[in-house]
Amino acid sequence: MAVSGIGKYDPENIFAKILRGEIPCKKVFENDYVLAFHDIAPKAPVHVLVIPKGPYVSFADFTQRASDKEIVGFNKAVGDVARMFRLDEPGYRMIGNVGQDSGQEVPHFHVHILGGRPLGPMLA
Ligand code: IMP
Repeated sequence: MAVSGIGKYDPENIFAKILRGEIPCKKVFENDYVLAFHDIAPKAPVHVLVIPKGPYVSFADFTQRASDKEIVGFNKAVGDVARMFRLDEPGYRMIGNVGQDSGQEVPHFHVHILGGRPLGPMLA
């Protein structure tokens, strides 16, 4: 079900449970600000989700409430994770769904990193 991109953070969402270690994930990267793990239903040979550790519903929420340190740390981590999978060349796609119209399903901000094959045109 799609979610609102702003509003009250639900601490029972699935990514919050992953952050608390209540459900497992296939972790690829972690630091003070960020956790990255494989998507459970990959749409490409590489499909990794990068999430901030703070309680942000979406990019809209993150860019209003997060500190500059969190925002810079998050962006750096996305680039680092892509490099871990050697995606700088031939390239990759980053997707961030925000709210209902985007089809965002999990109400904890995340960026998808997709790569490992030609991805075709983005908009269907
Ligand atoms: P959204 O539509 O941008 O919110 O994407 C949510 C993503 O989370 C989807 O690609 C799901 O496959 C993925 N997902 C849902 N539950 C889990 C999980 O427990 N582990 C890893 N990925 C998950």
